[in-house]
Amino acid sequence: MQYKMRVVISIAGFDPSGGAGILADIKTFEAFGCFGTAAITSLTSQNTVGVYGAYHQPPEIVRAQIEPILADFDIAAVKIGMLPTREAIEVVAEIIERKRLPNVVLDPVIRSTSGYDLIDDAAAGFLAARLLPLADIVTPNMVEAERLTGLTVTDLDQMKQVGLRLREMSARAVLIKGGHLKDEATDVLVDGFGVRLFSAPRVATGNTHGTGCTLSSAIAALLARGYELDAAISRAKEYLGAALSTAPAIGHGAGPLNHGVWSEECRGRNDG
Ligand code: PLP
Repeated sequence: MQYKMRVVISIAGFDPSGGAGILADIKTFEAFGCFGTAAITSLTSQNTVGVYGAYHQPPEIVRAQIEPILADFDIAAVKIGMLPTREAIEVVAEIIERKRLPNVVLDPVIRSTSGYDLIDDAAAGFLAARLLPLADIVTPNMVEAERLTGLTVTDLDQMKQVGLRLREMSARAVLIKGGHLKDEATDVLVDGFGVRLFSAPRVATGNTHGTGCTLSSAIAALLARGYELDAAISRAKEYLGAALSTAPAIGHGAGPLNHGVWSEECRGRNDG
C-alpha cells in the first residue's frame, strides 16, 4: 500500500545556520516521516554564537506563503514558532480559524538563549491572547512561561502553577519545559485531564541550539501521524535526547542537534 505521508507546516523564523527555526523544524518533520512545508515569519541573521538581526516579514508576505500551501495540501499539523509582530500573529490566527487547521503546536518563541529578543514586547501579550485559545498545545520553557504570565517559575511546583495559569488564559494543553532545571529534564504537562510529568535524563552538552524548535516540531509531526498527546510528548523527548547526545559539535557556540540521528546513515558514525 502506498505510504500516506502527512504534511506538516512550520510557520516560524529562518535561522540560516540551520540549528533553529524552520530548518530545524523541517529536518525534524523528516525524521518522523512527515512532509515538511514552511512559511518564513522573519529572516534572522545568526549562528551558534549569537543572533545579530531579524528582518520581520510583513503580514501580507506571511499570508502569501501560507495560502497556496493550504490550497494544495491537506495539512495534518501546524507548528508555530517565532511570530514576531502583532500583524503576523493576526494573519496566522485568522488562517487557523478559517481553515480549522488541526494539531496546532505553539512554541512561544520570545528570546534567544543568547539574549536577543525575537518578538516585540507588545506582540507577546497579543500572542497569548490570540493564539493560546487556538493551539492544541503550547510549549513554553520556564522563561517564556514567566513572560507570558508574569509569574516566577524556578521549580517544579511553580511549573505546575504556571501551567494552570496558562490554562486559565485559555490554553488547552501546556507543556512547560524544564530544560533549565538543575538535575533532570522534567517537563510538566497541564491539560483538561490534570497534570503529568515527563522526565528524561539530562544530556550533558552545550550543543542545545534549537532544542525548543525541535521538540515542538517533533510533537507536531507525531500528532500529525495520529499519536495521542502524551505518547507524542514521550516519543518527542526520546528523539530530543538522541539528537542532543549525538550533537555534532560544529560551530563556536551552542552547536545544533543531530536531527538525523534516527536515520540510517547518521547515527553518530564517523566513517573516516
Ligand atoms: N532563531 C529562531 C528563528 C528561533 O525560532 C529560535 C528559537 O526558537 C531561536 C533562534 C533561538 O534558538 P535558541 O533557543 O537555541 O537560542
